[in-house]
Amino acid sequence: MKYTTRELPKNKNIALVAHDHMKQELLAWSERRSEALKSHHLYATGTTGSLLSKELGLPIKCLFSGPMGGDQQLGAKIAEGEIDVLIFFWDPMNAVPHDPDVKALLRLAAVWNIPVATNIATADFLMDSLHINNSYYTRIPDYKGYLAERTE
Ligand code: PGA
Repeated sequence: MKYTTRELPKNKNIALVAHDHMKQELLAWSERRSEALKSHHLYATGTTGSLLSKELGLPIKCLFSGPMGGDQQLGAKIAEGEIDVLIFFWDPMNAVPHDPDVKALLRLAAVWNIPVATNIATADFLMDSLHINNSYYTRIPDYKGYLAERTE
């Protein structure tokens, strides 16, 4: 695989997602981090986003609810370079009906090499990183090269 880079800008596009039993944790974390979150562009799956915008009063672009396609919408945005950071409190203790979508979302975040936090500790580390308010160049697959290799 050949690689290239993509700039994660100073003001990042941050996606926030929490499974039902994890929503309170994400709400409390986001409230604690609301000042820092203000300088970024926020995206969320439907229910998470509605709860967050009610609680925080921050503008959030709400996609569909996760089980109804929201995780897949986010995955597509990651592949298209529209999401820079994923904060995804998935539920380690309960099964969800859209488990394949959850896996697909985490897989695409790995393929396109964006920072992912799946719990409070990592989300804190991420928000306290030097890179969160600065431009950062992430290594991504060179899609044109990938396609050329497969079609030559
Ligand atoms: P929700 O979706 O924010 O609509 O609850 C989250 C998810 O289950 O992925």
